[in-house]
Amino acid sequence: MSSANVTLEIPSLKMMNTQDYIELEQEYGADNYHPLDVVISKGEGVWVWDIEGKKYLDFLSAYSALNQGHCHPKILEAMIKQAQKVTLTSRAFRNDQLGEFYQKLAQISGLPKVLPMNSGAEAVETAIKAIRKWAYKVKGVPENQAEIIVCSNNFSGRTISLISFSTEEQYQDGFGPLTTGFKVIPFGDAAALEKAITPNTAAFLVEPIQGEGGIIVPPNGFLKQAEQICHQHNVLLIFDEIQTGLGRTGKMFAHEHENVKPDGITLGKALSGGFYPISAFISTDEVMGVFQPGDHGSTFGGNPLAAAIGNAALDVIIDEDLPGKAAKLGEYFMAKLQLIPSSHIKEVRGKGLLIGMELHPEAGGARRFCKALAKEGLLAKETRDNVIRFAPPLVISQSEIDWALERISRVMTTL
Ligand SMILES: *Cc1c(COP(=O)(O)O)cnc(C)c1O
Repeated sequence: MSSANVTLEIPSLKMMNTQDYIELEQEYGADNYHPLDVVISKGEGVWVWDIEGKKYLDFLSAYSALNQGHCHPKILEAMIKQAQKVTLTSRAFRNDQLGEFYQKLAQISGLPKVLPMNSGAEAVETAIKAIRKWAYKVKGVPENQAEIIVCSNNFSGRTISLISFSTEEQYQDGFGPLTTGFKVIPFGDAAALEKAITPNTAAFLVEPIQGEGGIIVPPNGFLKQAEQICHQHNVLLIFDEIQTGLGRTGKMFAHEHENVKPDGITLGKALSGGFYPISAFISTDEVMGVFQPGDHGSTFGGNPLAAAIGNAALDVIIDEDLPGKAAKLGEYFMAKLQLIPSSHIKEVRGKGLLIGMELHPEAGGARRFCKALAKEGLLAKETRDNVIRFAPPLVISQSEIDWALERISRVMTTL
């Protein structure tokens, strides 16, 4: 059959209403998410619009991938310019954008070597491969015995190996056999870390603040203690900064709050400002040195379009001092949230503009509050059952935070 004979039964897009879009997704899509029923068709800065023209403040920022706000004009310009030149070379050849991207990431992170990938999960997979190979080739761990210590309640992505060390039952259910070689300790417990280390321990892989786990901030000093313990036992300290990095918590990287120097970090999400899937594992010469040509790779990783977008996305974070804005406005916002007189609220916690509001179990779950907030024009999403995450784009202004506070306060005190 020639393509001219194929008739699409999708109604004219102009005629479709919200319910039509929802039904179309429901009919043809896998049911692996539980979205709020807002059909977004436009975004600009901290605002998005649904197909009916209703305007919302975006307080999720695509899980912190939009630190620079929606459709930042400088990143958009870089993307269009590069897309008109060359988009993909594959790493079989070199391109004129990648070197600068490497250099920028090295300068920002203080770690000298970069390996570019696409999704966050791939960056963590890359870290795990580097960690293991380092254990065998450099530390001298016997073949196939390397152990990586992780924390309960972690989130690192959805591949088989990453869910293998998740402590969420649902993430693993039905997906076995799982990858071995991981040891779980409680988050924030330095004594447990030290106790878990054996001669075969290769690394401690941890989020500086647990994001998907419910915005859990570890006890003060934990990251510094972890650094000392790892150092003492020749164990690599690897931070998953995919959600906490690039300004979100009020510093470029969350580990800077405790002045820690990790052996490697994973980045993703805001590395492109929401334009493109871009991630990276960044590490020392010694760790990255284990990779030889052919050991690891990705068709799209490090492509010139990604590198050009990544360069612009990093420039925006630096030029607009987004870490500084997150620190200042985060403090203001959190203090005001803590004053909301609602019996539903158990705790407000976080750092910078990564804030979690935990509700009492009797509040009936965070989702109904998120639905009510959406009606008020504020998009937030529950994480776990009882936590509402507030993580707006870092380009937000104080008056926009006040606008949000008014609505959050109303919902928390009337629902
Ligand atoms: C989102 C996230 C990931 C996974 O990133 P994807 O791009 O969804 O694969 C990994 N680690 C942390 C801490 C994250 O928040």
